[in-house]
Amino acid sequence: MGLTDNFTKVTNKMLATGQPAQLVAVTKTVGIDVIEQLYALGQRHFGENRADVLTAKQAALSDKYPDIVWHFIGSLQTRKVKEVLPATTYIHSLDRLSLAKEINKRATEESNCFVEVNVAGEANKHGMAPDDVIPFIEQLTHYPNIKVVGLMTMAPFVASEQELHEVFAQLKQLTNDVQALQLKHAPCLEASMGMSNDYQIALQEGATFVRVGTELVTVN
Ligand SMILES: *Cc1c(COP(=O)(O)O)cnc(C)c1O
Repeated sequence: MGLTDNFTKVTNKMLATGQPAQLVAVTKTVGIDVIEQLYALGQRHFGENRADVLTAKQAALSDKYPDIVWHFIGSLQTRKVKEVLPATTYIHSLDRLSLAKEINKRATEESNCFVEVNVAGEANKHGMAPDDVIPFIEQLTHYPNIKVVGLMTMAPFVASEQELHEVFAQLKQLTNDVQALQLKHAPCLEASMGMSNDYQIALQEGATFVRVGTELVTVN
């Protein structure tokens, strides 16, 4: 399957769920040639998980394709905020106050952030415990450059379909709970969840952004 077939397959599978969502093409394993091919197919949102790689790709492509929307999806070191911010539109991995403080300090305009949640409570995963999310978001009112557009999670890699449904349903519920608070700095309309292995399940549970790499970019 080539890139065109992959793209058609993924977008059709997304459509089949009936849940409208933004596809974020995760291009962390491929070069800018693949990004350009996906762009030619109509893809505009791209995700990267390393600060240096994202900024290099953004710099290489920004003049030619000014309408590309970059998403930073990896864990973000505080000292990388300065370089990541001007290159990205969405940060999917806000998971601590020290990071919020740095983003707030460096941002020149409101920064679109997803708060990362470790729904399944896995020890080696980033993100905060579900119970900590609302108190954390309430504290963010002190950081006017941060806009909480939604919540993000990564499901356990080895999980049954049933477990995946539960994890995604929990993140969606929490998203709705934050939304219901009607905080000015946290509209929280979006749920970023679902990767190659599980994006259809995430969409069934109400994902509004899916982050798909492998299934999109693996050509053979
Ligand atoms: C790599 C990555 C993805 C995409 O994963 P695939 O399984 O390749 O689709 C999504 N989200 C995050 C945070 C990632 O690091």
